[in-house]
Amino acid sequence: MNAFPTRKRPASTGRGFRSSDFNYSKPTTSRTPSNWRERLPSPRDYYAARIEKLSRPNAAGWAQGRCPFHEDHDASLSVNLTAARGAWRCFAGCGAGDLVSFHERLRGLGFVEAVRDLVGVR
Ligand SMILES: [Zn+2]
Repeated sequence: MNAFPTRKRPASTGRGFRSSDFNYSKPTTSRTPSNWRERLPSPRDYYAARIEKLSRPNAAGWAQGRCPFHEDHDASLSVNLTAARGAWRCFAGCGAGDLVSFHERLRGLGFVEAVRDLVGVR
């Protein structure tokens, strides 16, 4: 199974992927770009697209929304929209982590697969 992310196919987003974004001299299937941290989506964009009922962030950048990891009727999940790593914490007990760990859990991926998915590399 080699499922490509359902959204954000580089060819159709018009986001201006340059050929220099990819290293064609080596198979990208076996490598994660060394600058992957810089290429992660911003926590603001990432979480806004995936969390229901996301509130406006407070002065420290924390916003609350529905946790996708449990049957959440309140806004148990806090995410940081400004910190570089996009910290998250579920106050109902689902845990905490950063943007990559959130994506791992949301998609059921391992770390490397989650990073590749986030930066748009197969
Ligand atoms: Zn939760």
